[in-house]
Amino acid sequence: MRKYALPIVLLLLFESIAITLWLAKDNLFYLFNFSYIGLSISLGVFLYIKQHKHARRVVQLLVGLYMLVYLGIICRENMQIEGFWYYLFTGVFEAATIHYAVAKIFGPLVFGRGWCGYACWTAMVLDFLPYKTPSDSRKKIGWIRYIMFAVSFVFVAALFLAHVGNIEQIMFWAFIVGNIIYYVVGIALAYAFKDNRAFCKYICPITVFLKPMSYYSLLRVKCDVEKCVSCGKCKQVCPMDVDVTDNSRRRLNGTECILCMECVKNCPKNAL
Ligand code: SF4
Ligand code: SF4
Ligand code: SF4
Repeated sequence: MRKYALPIVLLLLFESIAITLWLAKDNLFYLFNFSYIGLSISLGVFLYIKQHKHARRVVQLLVGLYMLVYLGIICRENMQIEGFWYYLFTGVFEAATIHYAVAKIFGPLVFGRGWCGYACWTAMVLDFLPYKTPSDSRKKIGWIRYIMFAVSFVFVAALFLAHVGNIEQIMFWAFIVGNIIYYVVGIALAYAFKDNRAFCKYICPITVFLKPMSYYSLLRVKCDVEKCVSCGKCKQVCPMDVDVTDNSRRRLNGTECILCMECVKNCPKNAL
């Protein structure tokens, strides 16, 4: 049973979030929402333990499609960063603010950038593209993410300062248009740089939250230096260019790890 400890712990963690929010907000939606996400993630980890080839893709599709189609399009919740600013400005601890607090701000202290590896609906599509491992070194254009972050903030702040009416409706269309732009830019960059995750590395504004928080992540891939033979296979297969053989928190691109486990699966010495 010990090998199933992680999916059980994750399930319990999400279930406790689900019950706490359900009772605190007196809203059954939170019980359903976080139970569904917890079940999907635990199922994925369970499938991974069972060495199912597509375990991570199963979770990506279960969570990503749920958030994009059900929450975003059907329930009209803007779960993009503009939605976060919107709810923050209105002072309401609802929807996107809760989502960001759990998945992107405080959650990463426990599960790092698990969101990026298992739940993000943008990466869900990008991971279908052919460039699973980057063939070139990183470009020095990561600063674009900070501009995107500032633009999203200024956009929502301007709507409030200008007292624009029906912001809720604007937020819905911002979600639709924003996602289309993200997909187009993400796919174009993947082909231009021959790297599926180029969008994540250079453009995504959410990494401004994710990177510093995941620095302290409890869940990390570590290397057993006694077993490692320095073959370099782990770095070769890593989609995010992480130097996973270095156990320090300051390792190269350490805050980029999306816990995809490709390095673990490919290590010939089971050192990770
Ligand atoms: S970096 Fe952004 S786009 Fe990429 S997986 Fe994470 S949240 Fe999604
Ligand atoms: S793949 Fe395994 S053995 Fe090879 S360098 Fe990485 S950790 Fe070491
Ligand atoms: S291959 Fe390993 S180090 Fe690279 S992102 Fe995936 S889990 Fe992290």
